[in-house]
Amino acid sequence: LIEINEVRKSFGTNEVLKGITIAIEPGEVVAVIGKSGSGKSTLLRCINGLESIDAGSITVAGAQLRPDEAHLRQLRLKVGMIFQQFNLFPHLTAGANVMLSQTVVKKTPKGEAERIARAMLDRVGLAEKFDAYPDQLSGGQQQRTAIARALAMQPIALLCDEITSALDPELVSEVLAVVRGLAADGMTLVMVTHEMKFARDVCNRVVFMHQGRVHEIGPPDKIFAEPATPELQQFLGVQS
Ligand code: ATP
Ligand code: MG
Repeated sequence: LIEINEVRKSFGTNEVLKGITIAIEPGEVVAVIGKSGSGKSTLLRCINGLESIDAGSITVAGAQLRPDEAHLRQLRLKVGMIFQQFNLFPHLTAGANVMLSQTVVKKTPKGEAERIARAMLDRVGLAEKFDAYPDQLSGGQQQRTAIARALAMQPIALLCDEITSALDPELVSEVLAVVRGLAADGMTLVMVTHEMKFARDVCNRVVFMHQGRVHEIGPPDKIFAEPATPELQQFLGVQS
């Protein structure tokens, strides 16, 4: 579904991605782990067209990414992204937040957008919060609203960048439960995460990034139980 082939990306003289190759199958749940600065967020941003790439290619659902804006806009419609910060509009209700990108970007008629927004809020367990404003929601509920907003665009894949890192510990599990449900429903997910237990339980594959390269990749059993390189051993040691 997503083919990343020899992708390189530099910021000035700093080469952040040094030839990344990963093929992600439909329905696959891929965790991306690695130290701060290893290029995890940059990789997600490249997949979503938020950053241009310097070399290599990225193909999403059979279409190769091109640098022109119209194409990238199309791509961002197809591939959802959720961030550490929820970025909800504070002056809009949860329901209006979930409706907004549908009506503005996709030109979905208002009635239809509302129907979808209610269904997606229901899917993340927030059916009764349609009329609540973000400051009336907990951090976990705000993040679940952000997930509903991404789902409302009917993405073919979701990219999640440390979506539980800004949450109080007791709110992490409700967000992960929603992600777990999406995985069970067959959503293709690429998740940058520090939640190693979640990665172990839910993901099909784990990518360990180190200094802009895929240093190890494999099923969670192998990556967590038998890390092959000293770098991954050290990373996992520091985490636990
Ligand atoms: P973290 O775990 O801290 O989120 P990360 O693995 O997501 O780290 P990236 O955010 O991808 O790392 O950053 C990789 C490198 O690229 C870092 O050295 C960072 O300073 C640099 N970088 C990222 N974005 C930019 C930018 N817009 N301009 C310049 N340098 C950038
Ligand atoms: Mg990051």
